[in-house]
Amino acid sequence: MTSQTSVKTLLILGASGDLTGRLLLPGLARLVAKGRAGDLTLVGAGSDAWTPDQWQTRVHEAFAAAAETADPAGRKELTAVEKATVYHQLDVTAEGALASLLAGLEGPTAIYFALPPRISQLACESLRPEQVPAGTRLVMEKPFGSSEESARSLNRTLAALVPEDHIHRVDHFLGKATVLNILGLRFANNFLEPVWNREHVAKVEIIFDEDLALEGRARYYDRAGALRDMIQSHLLQIMALVAMEPPATIGERDLRDAVATVLRASSITAPYAKSTRRARYTAGSIEGRKVPDYAKEDGVDPDLGTETLAEVRVDINNWRWQGVPFILRSGKALGVKRKEAVITFLPVPHLPAGFTGVDSPNQLRIGFGPDTLQFDVDVNGPGSIFSLSRVTLDAELSASELLPYGEVLEGVLSGDPLLSVRGDTAEDCWRIIEPVLKAWQRGTVPLEEYDAGSSGPAGWSGPAPAE
Ligand code: NDP
Repeated sequence: MTSQTSVKTLLILGASGDLTGRLLLPGLARLVAKGRAGDLTLVGAGSDAWTPDQWQTRVHEAFAAAAETADPAGRKELTAVEKATVYHQLDVTAEGALASLLAGLEGPTAIYFALPPRISQLACESLRPEQVPAGTRLVMEKPFGSSEESARSLNRTLAALVPEDHIHRVDHFLGKATVLNILGLRFANNFLEPVWNREHVAKVEIIFDEDLALEGRARYYDRAGALRDMIQSHLLQIMALVAMEPPATIGERDLRDAVATVLRASSITAPYAKSTRRARYTAGSIEGRKVPDYAKEDGVDPDLGTETLAEVRVDINNWRWQGVPFILRSGKALGVKRKEAVITFLPVPHLPAGFTGVDSPNQLRIGFGPDTLQFDVDVNGPGSIFSLSRVTLDAELSASELLPYGEVLEGVLSGDPLLSVRGDTAEDCWRIIEPVLKAWQRGTVPLEEYDAGSSGPAGWSGPAPAE
């Protein structure tokens, strides 16, 4: 797939940061190597007094892996971007600093705010509308605000600078492959739509269980926790794709309208002790790797009571989904890594007498990384002709040739906000989880514990892991 590139300069603020080195530059490298970044100039900026060589070396190191597997044309493109890249030292919060850097760049420019959230906000507030050339794109990282009100205020700041369709609120889970798998499955197959509703679906689970523990990210994670880090953003977005109404097109406007509509109908119902659970891992081991107690990890303040595992039941209050629980769950340091949406169907209304063996509901599982599709059905098994047995129809879906951040950047560079979160949706995701955050702060939901490497506290819902 080729894309129409409209951005000439990609300005990364936060050149020395973790996101830039670990995710952005490698993602960009794949895009450049595939010839999908157009005639792009890369500019890095940060508050460090780096020499141009230091920045170029950072870019070179990140591009090296892509160069190894690229064809000659791709390697040439990578070298061209590396050679032309420049670095600017600036404090982005200083009055006029970002504006004068922007004025010297060849536009249209995409400004990637790979900065701490507070600094991104100050940088945006430092700009006046007339200092932002037409065509400029603003790329905002998560978390987008820290509450519905702060997200609204940030939206107002951005809206004064550029039009909404020039704002890219990044959610890298909305990488094309995953999104297109859900949308293609739902809307290009006639057999699913008639059963995709409360008449046939018992529950939907969206699970993102990691076997990784804190991995040195206490500074960020201890103030975020699983609910803010994963459910507020990524899992609600996936839920919206599973639950939304069929759009007329998969263009930016129709798709994002459909996402917004279903999120507006969604809420978590009190009492939260019934609809939510939270827990924190204690010491344990994962595949022979010792994991310390979360509360004793470097940089963790145990008194914050940060959860490393969160589960919420979202209700979607519309005709299609009324009464169907959407269980969203994500946690760290779990024994089994699971990234999937599981749709569990209702049992058949009547199983003819005489059948024996398995009689369990059908399940459709959409796996995210690796991208898979599995459908559990009961059929006549071996042995007695009326003895049922469970089989799984299993398909491995082709992976995207880009990394998730390559897909994010392709949308930015081609001027397509389809895979980014629209402003009203960003606010709504906070509206959905804010009451839970407040209830948890008040201590109305106990903080449970689980051993690192286990499957979480006993009694939590969730289907058995996929084979
Ligand atoms: P880091 O702390 O690693 O990097 C922040 C960068 O901001 C540094 O390069 C720093 O430069 C720069 N910076 C800070 N203050 C200023 C300033 N006043 N002027 C200019 N530059 C400044 O953060 P991350 O890279 O981890 O995160 C960046 C953003 O990405 C955050 O919003 C985060 O939530 C988000 N994110 C990060 C992920 C990750 O895995 N790291 C994953 C998903 C989202 P210097 O050191 O020179 O001051």
